[in-house]
Amino acid sequence: MFSNAEIGIDLGTANILVYTKAKGIILNEPSVVAINSQNNQVVAVGKEAKEMVGKTPRHIVPIRPLKDGVIADYDITAQMLKEILKKVSKKAGVSMRKPTVVVCTPSGSTSVERRAIHNAVKSYGAKEVHLIEEPIAAAIGSDLPVDEPISSVIVDIGGGTSEVAIISFGGVVSCKSARIGGDKLDEEIIQYIRRHFNILIGESTAEKIKMEIGYALIDHPEETMEVRGRDLVTGLPRVITVTSTQIQDAIRESLLSILETIHATLESCPPELSGDIVDHGITIAGGGALIKGMQEWLANKIHVPVHLAPNPLESVAIGTGKSLKMIQKLQKATK
Ligand code: ADP
Ligand code: MG
Repeated sequence: MFSNAEIGIDLGTANILVYTKAKGIILNEPSVVAINSQNNQVVAVGKEAKEMVGKTPRHIVPIRPLKDGVIADYDITAQMLKEILKKVSKKAGVSMRKPTVVVCTPSGSTSVERRAIHNAVKSYGAKEVHLIEEPIAAAIGSDLPVDEPISSVIVDIGGGTSEVAIISFGGVVSCKSARIGGDKLDEEIIQYIRRHFNILIGESTAEKIKMEIGYALIDHPEETMEVRGRDLVTGLPRVITVTSTQIQDAIRESLLSILETIHATLESCPPELSGDIVDHGITIAGGGALIKGMQEWLANKIHVPVHLAPNPLESVAIGTGKSLKMIQKLQKATK
């Protein structure tokens, strides 16, 4: 039995992941909460709540409290965190009494929000709670040499935001964040299909299209996919065929905005660090890194090597868990 469990939590805009030293990733669920609007009670959290999206009676409202990278409602975020910790202690099969917890918070969060997250975890019985910046966690989880005098660039394309950071000596040298991520691509796909086919599709369908036939702006053999939606003229269900070229058109502007954010961050890089970036390139993580052709497209556009993180969806959680060693080292050094 580990009475002093160490846990890392990635509080992402789309997914929450929990990592323990003993078992690796032990929980990976959507950051969704279903609320009963009649009494404001939490009905479900995570997978169960996501499955309710678009399908529940009117008074059950699924919400994503972290959707845009800022905490829309921190009461609900705190309740979600507690439910997640409950699930974790059931799954972990180890005593979760007084765990040490490191939480990665969205980089747009304010000090009040960070405090709220800290308190929610603490009130669940954590012995120590540490908050870590997302780019550092992503870099550690992507095996980048963060505490060495070599600068690394990490691009984390999540659900609600994309974060680009230059890291050196364990700290963020320069960082830019854009409120554009996988969610925005899904929205663009919904809009495109509405405009070009007069068909309304749901968010989950749009996400499926993106994952199956969504390409970054590279040449590729065209793919097609059958899509079901509601005809806006007749009101009836209809099946259409969409092509990967059409989807590329739909998401073009958003992809260019992500590229622009990367560009702007590299431009703000201190000249002494530019050499490292030319040699070592940048690393992409987050679910958006999995868009087909992303690595190739970015490499063509920014002319430095582009690496894909070993587990793009898990980088932050792994890094959060592993950062504990670094935090303890720092604490010792400052004592
Ligand atoms: P966050 O850290 O904000 O919670 P994640 O890094 O978990 O976000 O990424 C979630 C986003 O990545 C979602 O928009 C999801 O649709 C997208 N995504 C996940 N897998 C893929 C894939 N294979 N191809 C394209 N997009 C993906
Ligand atoms: Mg993330």
